[in-house]
Parts: sequence; C-alpha cells; structure tokens
Amino acid sequence: MGVDPGSGRTKNTSSREGRSGSEGGDARLRPGQEAAGGLIGCRCCCVTVTTLEHIPVLSPTRRGGWYNGWVPELPEVETARRLIAEAALHHRIAGVDDSDTFVCRPHAPGELRDALVGRTLTAAHRRGKAMWCETSGIGRSTRPGPDLGIHLGMSGRIVVVSRSGRSAEGGEPSRRDPQPHKAEWDRFALEFADGGRLVLVDVRRLGRIRLNPDIDALGPDAAEVTLSEFRSLITKGSIAVKARMLDQSKIAGVGNLLADEVLWQAKLPPAASVGSLRTQDADRLYHALRSAVRSAIAQGGAHTGDVISARHPGGRCPRCGAAMRHGTVGGRSTWWCSREQASRLVVSPGAAGS
Ligand SMILES: [Zn+2]
Repeated sequence: MGVDPGSGRTKNTSSREGRSGSEGGDARLRPGQEAAGGLIGCRCCCVTVTTLEHIPVLSPTRRGGWYNGWVPELPEVETARRLIAEAALHHRIAGVDDSDTFVCRPHAPGELRDALVGRTLTAAHRRGKAMWCETSGIGRSTRPGPDLGIHLGMSGRIVVVSRSGRSAEGGEPSRRDPQPHKAEWDRFALEFADGGRLVLVDVRRLGRIRLNPDIDALGPDAAEVTLSEFRSLITKGSIAVKARMLDQSKIAGVGNLLADEVLWQAKLPPAASVGSLRTQDADRLYHALRSAVRSAIAQGGAHTGDVISARHPGGRCPRCGAAMRHGTVGGRSTWWCSREQASRLVVSPGAAGS
C-alpha cells in the first residue's frame, strides 16, 4: 500500500461492476494489491498514486457541483466517524443491504447481513482514512460481534437517517449547497429496527465495506502520531518528503491537499529528500501537520487549508505573495510557494490539477 508507483489497475468485468467500470476498479485485484493484509482498500491510499491520477472523474467540476475532485482525507473521515458515534450507535440492526458485491467484496451478498442483523454498533473508530465499528452480541449475549470496516474511498460519505426522518451527513467537505442524492449511489445500508438507517453513499463506488478489517498495515494516525514516532517514520530513506507523507503505511490519513498544506506551512520543498531533512525541519513539519489536521477537522475538511485556494495557475502564496508553482511529486499534482519552498526542489513539470 502507500505510494509505491509500481502496480497497475485493470478493468472489472462482473455484471454490477461492469455498469460503472471506469469508476469501480477491479474485483479481481491480486491479494497484495487489494490493500495489504485485507485492509478495507481504496484508490486514494491503498493503491498507487499514479494509478488514481488516471481514474476518470464522472463530473469534474473543480468548484461546486456534485463532485469537485475533493477526496476524503483524515478530516472528512473524522466527521463521518463522529456522525456515526453521535447518531448511529446502539440502534438494533434489523436489515442490511449488502447487495453491492464490489463495495462489499470479498463478502458474498447476505454474508454481511447474516453477521450483523440483531446486533448494534457500539463504538466507532478511525485510523487515517479507515473506519471501523465495534458491534454487540445478539440478544443477551455479551460476546461482541465482528468489526464493521467502512472506507469512504474517493467520494464516499455517510448518511444517517434518524427514526424521525432527519438526515445528517459526514465524510464530505462542508459545502453550502446541498448535495444531490440518487438512490443508485447507495452502496451499503444498515436498517435499524427503530426506522433509522445508516447509508454509505458513494458516487464513484470506490468505498469499501468489510468485516474485521486489518488496519495493522496502517501507520499511526496523523492526528495522534507522537513527535518521536514522526521523526523516525518521516526521515529515513531518500524518497520525496511529500511522497513519504502520503504513504499510509508510515503516517495514516494525509491526502494530497493536506500534504500540500502541511508542507507549505512548514516551508519545506515537497520534493526534498526525507534524508535531507534536519531535525528542526522534521519537527516543524510535525507541528504543521498537527495544526493543519486540527484546523481542517474544525473547519470542515482539508480544502479549508490556507494555501488550498492558491493551488491554481496564477495563484499567489497567501503568506508572501510569490507565485505558486506546480509540478508532480510522488506521482501527485503538487503546488508550492516559489519563494519559500524553492530550495532543493527537483520536480517534473505537470499539468495544472488538484
Ligand atoms: Zn510564500
């Protein structure tokens, strides 16, 4: 997993997958490709970054519209986790729609239903972009059930509908305009006995539902990693520092926007070799990471970072006014301040993008 640019992507061919092949990915991924150790895999952090650059966007409106290219990163997933924790725990599960065999792979239709009906969700956890919910025993049994893994992929969001019909969402960047909701985008649902429901809504169908997900392949969460852990994880080797930050096996939860924001805040060149970072560079990067994560969670998503609005041709650094530069680092579209992040920089030119 992580940013290894080596592996490729093949088309899926099964019936339901085939309906939206370009958005879905491959149900026949090799075991090692399908997110190490059975992790609830996605295209944003569990497969190659170069691969996801080639995944078509269904309606690529950069601002507004129902899909604007923003991908759930740690802050968005945390809002989804909090929504589940606040609104979906301790309701008895009476039904499960697990008919989407791609999102619910490798489980067969009905397998998730059989495992979950009669239980309740009892806790919601997150590491990086991966979530999982603990489940109760059935009836009077105190023996807990399986963990329910939920990954939002590149466009997923969680919708919880209360028994009174009130709907709340989590997992997408905060927007002023309400997002449309087509029933065909519902990829998985828990129906609660009291009439409420929890739904994974996912336009691009790259989210994932899986029992007992293996999260051990993920590094420490970006919101919780300690300074000493961060120093040792971030500074070994010669890879570009941005690529290292996107490597979910090292630090879990950082996506493309958050990485650009953090590197800009720390005034570090995104292509600088991690081996060239001094202790004070790593420490500055750590504090920028923690600050950016806290701010993004509070403000509604990674898109709220200070430099994000300047990530476009002609953009100026919000801090010093210098021109923003663009290139590809670690396989990802990258923006940086031409003055404050210029040193040691070696990047290949690339087209403007997100
Ligand atoms: Zn600047």
